[in-house]
Amino acid sequence: MRVLIIEDEPKTADYLRRGLTEQGHVVDVEHNGIDGRHAALEGRHDVIVLDAMLPGIDGFEILRDVRRVKQVAIIMLTARDGIEDRVRGLQDGADDYLVKPFSFLELSARLHALSRRSRQTEPTTITIGDMVLDLLGRKVQRGGDRIDLTAKEFSLLTTLARRPGQVLSRTEIAELVWDIHFDSNTNVVEVAVKRLRAKLDGPYPLKLLHTMRGMGYVLEARAAEGTA
Ligand code: CA
Repeated sequence: MRVLIIEDEPKTADYLRRGLTEQGHVVDVEHNGIDGRHAALEGRHDVIVLDAMLPGIDGFEILRDVRRVKQVAIIMLTARDGIEDRVRGLQDGADDYLVKPFSFLELSARLHALSRRSRQTEPTTITIGDMVLDLLGRKVQRGGDRIDLTAKEFSLLTTLARRPGQVLSRTEIAELVWDIHFDSNTNVVEVAVKRLRAKLDGPYPLKLLHTMRGMGYVLEARAAEGTA
């Protein structure tokens, strides 16, 4: 999952970041309300861990602004005696809350419960042309043939398959799949696309992974002729 932590206490933010990173999540951290709101509105996160009391703009205001435009899972962090805060947060659309101080295991359990809930509304398979992508089983087939992919190749394919027909730039892919900000010295995206394409499209007449010159990559079913 991609998680955004908006928390002004450096120690709490740091320990959440470390714990979540160790569990394999991609983690962004903001330490004040202004940067936090920007990241929450602009980013593509699965979950936002949002402290109620923040310098700049408080957590409730961020919660309302985010809820107006998107359905991302939000866990509010509130003070021990802040019962009103908890009620207010849930009324304003928070999915859950944790009272400080809390253990990392508590947060981790809430995150898993939330991701299970959101996964239930998400499709578990994506079909494009003769490709069937099983998101839960992490398997890919084309015309009934099993295709073996590495974890990163699978993640790259999933990223593209969730947006069929939509061009994703190398920068977007680098951030979504590798959590790196694109730098022209790295060709990690090109290399991975090339490997994925060889496995996914190599022997098949119907091509799925296409390069849009100067723009990026797109996954859609197209005849071999006329591909870029
Ligand atoms: Ca705070």
